[in-house]
Amino acid sequence: MLSTPTQLLRLSQGQLNLLEACPRKFQHTYLEQLNTPADPEHEERQTLGSRFHLLMQQREMGLPIDSFLQADTQLQSWMAGFAEAAPEILKPAPDDQTFRESEHYRTLQVQDYLLTVIYDLLIADSQQAQILDWKTYPKPQNKSKLEKNWQTRLYMYVLAETSVYLPEQISMTYWFVQSQGKPQNIKFTYSTAQHQQTAKKLHQLLSQLGNWLKGHKTNLLLPQVPEGRKICDYCQFAVKCDRLQTAAGDGILATEGAIATNSLPNLDNIQEVSL
Ligand code: SF4
Repeated sequence: MLSTPTQLLRLSQGQLNLLEACPRKFQHTYLEQLNTPADPEHEERQTLGSRFHLLMQQREMGLPIDSFLQADTQLQSWMAGFAEAAPEILKPAPDDQTFRESEHYRTLQVQDYLLTVIYDLLIADSQQAQILDWKTYPKPQNKSKLEKNWQTRLYMYVLAETSVYLPEQISMTYWFVQSQGKPQNIKFTYSTAQHQQTAKKLHQLLSQLGNWLKGHKTNLLLPQVPEGRKICDYCQFAVKCDRLQTAAGDGILATEGAIATNSLPNLDNIQEVSL
């Protein structure tokens, strides 16, 4: 008998964040792929952020970046600020024992999921492995919130699981290029205890997702967060979820543009990877 290939669902840190915040929102966004109307200001910020990432990547690859810098004063000032704040990061590898790669891509299979991470820059030598991430917004006040974000947890977890580095040799640093004055950073170290904690949390979340997806095949909806949660006030699916009351009460109107369809989710819409 021929065996059928296992279908893995690809999951990123953003999808894990959404799943943890509200499974129903995950359903609407990733399973149903309901689109919200684009916010032009947000799009513009995203484009500028992508251009900075591209610039850093080109620089790392040894490609010329002067013409980009001359054409864009914002990029020029971010780059100048970053070069002053963290010159050591922009220096080429001191020897051939140091590995440096921008947009470094890794995957890890856990249960029926393919966890995917992309590091803006990975610098690794015989002692340690540093994950670096560029953010084109000011440094946030709340460090612990960033620590709990799945980007921090998943990025270090995947590296520890897919390399020879012990958790204690791994770190992750966010650089916020648009901070007041000069670029600022937040660095997280890692430990075996944190690694075990993340493993436990990840397995729980993915097992839950597995059950929800099974139910979803029989037209069951993924759970909503309990009523009265603040997340609903800012959610574009508040109308669809009948949570508009709460949202309007706070003077925030949910967008109806997302309510494109009442059809039940289609699993075919999720990006899948065949083994
Ligand atoms: S409105 Fe609330 S329950 Fe509905 S998807 Fe958004 S966050 Fe979840």
